[in-house]
Amino acid sequence: MVYLLKLGELTLKGENRGEFEKVLQHNLKMLLAGITAKISVTNGRYFVDVPEACAEQAENAFSRLFGITGWALTRVCEKTVNAMLIACIEEARVLAGKGVKTFKIEARRTDKSFPLDSYGIMANAGQSVLENVPALTVNVKTPSSVINVEIREKVYVYSNSVKGLRGLPVGVAGRGLLLLSGGIDSPVAGFLMAGRGVSIDAVHFHAYPFTSNEAQQKVAKLAEILGRYTLGVCLHVVGFTDIQMRIKERAPLPWSTVLLRMAMMRAAENIAAQCRARCLITGESLSQVASQTAENIACTQSVVAMPILRPLIGMDKEAIIHISEKIGAYKTSILPYKDCCTLFSPKHPVLRGDIKEALSLFEKLDINSLIEQSIKERVIYRL
Ligand code: ATP
Ligand code: MG
Repeated sequence: MVYLLKLGELTLKGENRGEFEKVLQHNLKMLLAGITAKISVTNGRYFVDVPEACAEQAENAFSRLFGITGWALTRVCEKTVNAMLIACIEEARVLAGKGVKTFKIEARRTDKSFPLDSYGIMANAGQSVLENVPALTVNVKTPSSVINVEIREKVYVYSNSVKGLRGLPVGVAGRGLLLLSGGIDSPVAGFLMAGRGVSIDAVHFHAYPFTSNEAQQKVAKLAEILGRYTLGVCLHVVGFTDIQMRIKERAPLPWSTVLLRMAMMRAAENIAAQCRARCLITGESLSQVASQTAENIACTQSVVAMPILRPLIGMDKEAIIHISEKIGAYKTSILPYKDCCTLFSPKHPVLRGDIKEALSLFEKLDINSLIEQSIKERVIYRL
């Protein structure tokens, strides 16, 4: 069975295009691992030939590939007018069988030696379909289905395209380190940045034994789900219990969440440097909780120099949940295990933290060696 994959935004990228296509092709091969697939590329079209038994698996792989606008199962036939017409009629019969009433033909001819030009293909194929499939009529403006004919080294005929993820191939924008909690937001943030070409590593901070093993398993599961779209995720699991205890002992309670976030950022930046990540990614969304006011975000980021990407910053919860469901993370995200942030979390947190005060309190924690220790002792999983 042959699928046609349509490239997305990367067709706009001028000089980088070759590089982007190479990454896309590599990612496609990785996602199709285990399937005997033949991939060929011509003029911004990918053709993927897979055995019939692997069709479902292949479609599942396409649905997880950033960088394509869509794909379609395609009929392939010899480059003769007659074979082309038969393929169009067969395609039309399948559409009619599905209850489709109106159609039009669209044609593209990259091989100019074909005896009919694009207009000729549309006219002849349209006529043949009308004569042979009485259930269908032509509607040029708003057809229920479009039958596409492409004349290349062979003739390709296809109708129902499935929408792809769009975006850019994972890897063209370097690596980012995602701060992955067990919540709804951070996996979505990772997914969105992957769609801008960022390869994703993740770091999770836990406070075992105050947080459970189940909570860590849940995070590993979320990393695995995210990894389906990002060609795997390397998850760094860091024990933050000592650090949280230190904050509890030495800092005013209202500041504890902001200070914990600052410590997380410090640790994350350090790990990011080790895994050659160029940015940090969080699931923060402005005003969603007390620690996500503009002032507190400023405090949180004041201890790191690396850019922090926050793709959810302007999104509302419903839109975030919608994506979470789409990527298959939601059911796992809502499992009710305690996150380390909810430990010792103040009833009345600072809402508009002052950066100078935040830095001074952070300094007083004398926490750098604890952070270094926690990073040394981290456990790394490849998911
Ligand atoms: P999420 O749904 O991602 O947990 P949230 O709405 O609960 O987000 P917060 O708990 O304030 O928001 O966390 C904000 C961001 O900080 C998270 O999206 C995540 O990127 C990071 N973060 C929070 N807790 C942790 C943790 N335990 N380990 C790693 N990152 C974390
Ligand atoms: Mg959270």
